[in-house]
Amino acid sequence: MTTTAAPSRGTTPDPAGYQEPAPTPLALLLLGRDADPASERGVDCPGDLPAASDPDLVARARAAKAALGDRVFILGHHYQRDEVIEFADVTGDSFKLARDAANKPDAEYIVFCGVHFMAESADILTSAAQQVILPDLAAGCSMADMATAEQVAECWDVLTDAGVAGTVVPVAYMNSSADIKAFTGRHGGTICTSSNAQRALEWAFEQGSKVLFLPDQHLGRNTAVRDLGFSPEDCVVYNPHKPGGGLTADQLRAAKMILWRGHCSVHGRFSLDSVNEVRERVPGVTVLVHPECKHEVVEAADLVGSTEYIIKALDAAEPGSKWAVGTELNLVRRLAKAHPDKEIVFLDRTVCFCSTMNRIDLPHLVWTLESLVEGRVPNVITVDPETEKHAKAALDQMLALP
Ligand code: SF4
Repeated sequence: MTTTAAPSRGTTPDPAGYQEPAPTPLALLLLGRDADPASERGVDCPGDLPAASDPDLVARARAAKAALGDRVFILGHHYQRDEVIEFADVTGDSFKLARDAANKPDAEYIVFCGVHFMAESADILTSAAQQVILPDLAAGCSMADMATAEQVAECWDVLTDAGVAGTVVPVAYMNSSADIKAFTGRHGGTICTSSNAQRALEWAFEQGSKVLFLPDQHLGRNTAVRDLGFSPEDCVVYNPHKPGGGLTADQLRAAKMILWRGHCSVHGRFSLDSVNEVRERVPGVTVLVHPECKHEVVEAADLVGSTEYIIKALDAAEPGSKWAVGTELNLVRRLAKAHPDKEIVFLDRTVCFCSTMNRIDLPHLVWTLESLVEGRVPNVITVDPETEKHAKAALDQMLALP
């Protein structure tokens, strides 16, 4: 789905330079605003979902939240829709939100408006008395799904056969399943976020001579090359869909960074063309991108940083300054609205919502809250104790990073 620069019939311009497509059924499906059970990994709600057209949804959400009071704590990831963020008690990235939930021990119900791996992390960090709820179980993460427990176990066998496993320290990005975090903990590794990936890698290279970086190849490569001074040739990509990862034992022995072949479906879409095009379209623009973008995009950008870094950079920017931002569209649009004195545009002209994040909408939130009011606890995300123990060890190692 592409959009044009000039407002046209059936579209709504917004400050980020993005025009909402006309509300055709196709556009709605592409934006993750509906489900097509025949073609999607959809998960039915075990109850009646309110209609998206229900004009009382906002009032119903307010009433249910008020009825639950301090028993419920709603977490809103930065990439969520405005209609959901409006009801969040706190917003942030996934790790901050999980910690915020852990700091609210009196809240029985943690409603995580985000994606599956985030709810798992919240369950790991919160107490046994708290239940973590994902309003739509189909809200997964394509990046996290690119590394399964079986594939990573097989990779470790490949590294063992090549005689390098003893020198490898796993570093797993926060955006991974609890199983992958647990694998990392079992093998003496650490979790990292996009804010502390450099410190995590520096620590890992003090423990061993190679890193297995999971599951985002771009964050791993960008951090190794930009922040640690490695060359791109020091990195190899392990493809779980090829025998032996598509690598020879010699390649594994020579590599410093073994990057898992995973990527974010949102940030991976930005291209060098997007950067060149926006520089022509907006003279004097500063290009600011997330490190989950491809290496060539990061190299062509002016500034690179995590979601929190992007928010702070735009908060601190001079009035009248011009910015093109390469991260999830919901966040870019909100930032553009929050800073009308600055020109903030989306880096790409194509739609770049995270479709799984967008699965969480007001009908699912209302359904979740009203279910809790009625005494039913839906969509509880639970990590088994053994997985939790090892995943927590890897998370604790991250917290202990120098
Ligand atoms: S933005 Fe990317 S990493 Fe984040 S949930 Fe969506 S697909 Fe996953």
